[in-house]
Amino acid sequence: MAILEELYVIKQRDFSEKLRELTDPNVVYVTDLVTCSHKRIMRLNYPLLSFQFEPQLLIGELVHAGLQALLARDGSEWRAEVQIEERYDIDGGEVVLKGRADLVKYNDGVPETVVEIKTARMLPEGAPLEHHVMQLRIYLQLLGARRGILLYVTPDRLVEFEVEPVNVDIGALIRETVYDMRAPRYDWECRYCPFRKFCPYARKARQQQ
Ligand code: SF4
Repeated sequence: MAILEELYVIKQRDFSEKLRELTDPNVVYVTDLVTCSHKRIMRLNYPLLSFQFEPQLLIGELVHAGLQALLARDGSEWRAEVQIEERYDIDGGEVVLKGRADLVKYNDGVPETVVEIKTARMLPEGAPLEHHVMQLRIYLQLLGARRGILLYVTPDRLVEFEVEPVNVDIGALIRETVYDMRAPRYDWECRYCPFRKFCPYARKARQQQ
């Protein structure tokens, strides 16, 4: 089998294994809290549309895997892909908030530093971006860590930003994501959205740009 075919099969298998979770209305991802709330609705209704096999996404995964392999070696204080899960009672219903921190450094078994890796063609204007900072702050809060690092990796830049923990009202963010329509949360989101061709709000968002 060609290597691309093998990669494709692996990605498809990973996606299939996650499908049940992706379509569970009681599951909210940390990324849902900082992006367009209608993306979650579209994912619940049209989960297969969120499968993407794109070079840029694969490159992003390779960068993550490389950095994680370098830092989170046996015996190191770093752990890669740390799964986070917290249950919230939202107006009498249970919501399971799930996330995955790229890298966490532990001190005596206690999470100390959380690193969120972002890959891009170029360093975004205005970096660090608000939704990346918020995502990292949510991880910091859920893990109880004191130090956050947002690491941007581009073909010609490797830039890290320190992110301080602040108290985030996660319950309010979940409510906003589940009940309020923030579609899109940022004007540029529709351009990169896998659901844009079927989304009733995409046109409005394009006109705003
Ligand atoms: S196309 Fe735009 S408004 Fe629609 S789900 Fe995607 S990001 Fe949200």
